[in-house]
Amino acid sequence: MTAFRTLDQADVKGKRVLVRVDLNVPMENGRITDATRIERVLPTIREIADKGGRVILLAHFGRPKGRDPKESLKPVAEAVSQHLGKSVAFADACIGEAASTPVNALKDGDVLLLENTRFHAGEEKNDPAFVQELAKLGDLYVNDAFSAAHRAHASTEGLARVLPGYAGRTMQAELDALTKGLEAPKRPVVAIVGGAKVSTKIDLLENLVTKVDALVIGGGMANTFVHATGLGIGKSLAEKDLAATAMRIIEKARDANCAIILPVDGVCAYEFKVGAQNHTYGIDAIPEDQMILDVGSQSIERIQAAINDAATVVWNGPLGAFEIAPFDQGTVAAARHAAQRTKDGKLVSVAGGGDTVAALNHAGVADSFTYVSTAGGAFLEWLEGKSLPGVEALRA
Ligand code: AMP
Repeated sequence: MTAFRTLDQADVKGKRVLVRVDLNVPMENGRITDATRIERVLPTIREIADKGGRVILLAHFGRPKGRDPKESLKPVAEAVSQHLGKSVAFADACIGEAASTPVNALKDGDVLLLENTRFHAGEEKNDPAFVQELAKLGDLYVNDAFSAAHRAHASTEGLARVLPGYAGRTMQAELDALTKGLEAPKRPVVAIVGGAKVSTKIDLLENLVTKVDALVIGGGMANTFVHATGLGIGKSLAEKDLAATAMRIIEKARDANCAIILPVDGVCAYEFKVGAQNHTYGIDAIPEDQMILDVGSQSIERIQAAINDAATVVWNGPLGAFEIAPFDQGTVAAARHAAQRTKDGKLVSVAGGGDTVAALNHAGVADSFTYVSTAGGAFLEWLEGKSLPGVEALRA
């Protein structure tokens, strides 16, 4: 269903296949603390190796300025090897002889990881000379790093312009999910957007109101909207200077026939603390000396009703300060409801970005959504309607 070249079209047998992956795993004291990103790239590596391709992995790690042993991918090669259940060789550089010698030693089905692409300034500059150096090492290019696809770097975009390029299986799954979520969704589509601030999500809100049938706004950002409509919000987190922006978004939604669903009540407390004494007030009766930390029960009912009306839900951002109980209840209730509708076969649910994955994990439902994207920045840029250079370069 994708308009992208995928591994189905690639003849990898006996070929040197440069595979861009995301191995930017969190590490503490040299130990990987979360291997999700490694797990996600295994299917593509396995498939190419099983088909007799020579797998040459390209990845960045951290934000080094030049070569820095602290940002070496060497420990990651060992971890990939363990998860893959197969030896993964490591090359001390991603260009030059230190790369070409181990590449030339590869046999069909072997796997090699090249050192951090960001050790070279040409990576982030997408320098054509650096692209050519990388391209010498491969016959084909596969991009499986959706999370880096919003960057036009040598290994994420440049290579697809000079070698035959294909989407890896993880990239393909992400593109399929995103297409189902917004580009060719089953209607009605409801977007749920929460999180702390309007200022970080203006482009996203402006794009969504032109594409979805209803937009639920929750979290701290809802306070800015409520304030803009002329109601008091006490000591709640808000960006009062963005009242005009909020009104513009509301007007744009009206013009596009997109319903805006704002909270009708809020769970309030005097302080932002675990177990803080709290009380729910109607949205037109928020006490001056309290702050809204979650959507109230009537708002939850409305959000659940909106989910019931939807064939597709796209979700970014928690509906309250979910890290602190009991202000997680709105997010948890809405997430579980969307998960149940998905399990019942009534809903396509796509979520991602920032704290959303953590919030859905907290609710225990990340596995029940149709698709949860772990690609923070790239997922948000896609929600903003921007084209992603790494994806554009793979279009068939
Ligand atoms: P974001 O990274 O923009 O998605 O924002 C996520 C953060 O927003 C989380 O840390 C939440 O605790 C916070 N948040 C959500 N709702 C509220 C609220 N009503 N008051 C304060 N913080 C909130």
